Amino acid sequence: MKKIVLASGNPGKLREFAQLLATCDFEVLPQSAFNVPEADEPHCTFVENALAKARHAAQLTGMPALADDSGLCIAALGGAPGVYSARYGGEPKSDERNNQKMVAALQGQSDRRAHYVAVLVFVRHADDPQPIVVEGEWHGEIIDTPRGAGGFGYDPYFLVPDLKQTAAEISAEEKNKRSHRGKALALLIERLKQGA
Ligand code: IMP
Repeated sequence: MKKIVLASGNPGKLREFAQLLATCDFEVLPQSAFNVPEADEPHCTFVENALAKARHAAQLTGMPALADDSGLCIAALGGAPGVYSARYGGEPKSDERNNQKMVAALQGQSDRRAHYVAVLVFVRHADDPQPIVVEGEWHGEIIDTPRGAGGFGYDPYFLVPDLKQTAAEISAEEKNKRSHRGKALALLIERLKQGA
């Protein structure tokens, strides 16, 4: 199996990525196993932040690295909270404050369109001139009253129109099939299977 380092400290992401990437012979190891600290995410686009995180992990481990960056973009807010999704309501990050701020920002707004974005970047080494970059989107609408106990983050307010359920009301399996991260990961696996 080829070893790659995941530029994230999130155990949920590690589990999900490790399971799916095992199908194309990659063993995914967390950057914490190599004492790699979290990289800065100073950029205003998902792709730049994901690339910075992947390069940082590859640089410090000497191994191929995978990073992701994701967030929620709301049409009526010009794409906000976007790359600031995790900390939209301020520090320390809190899903509850993020959601309160979002609902307040959309008060009286009839355009409720929003989409999640996930960008994954894979670098073979820190100076890889041609990283693999894939992106997934998941489109929905923001509601004012939360529904459901699954998922995380903005999910109780993210209505999936064709299901008439929020992302927090559907099963994890259904979410993986439809979600931004699930779609991006499927694209990455396709690319890796063609040979990294
Ligand atoms: P990160 O990519 O782990 O930094 O996540 C960025 C932030 O975007 C999260 O903290 C959430 O606020 C939001 N987010 C990303 N993906 C999802 C999702 O699938 N559901 C709900 N919120 C999400």
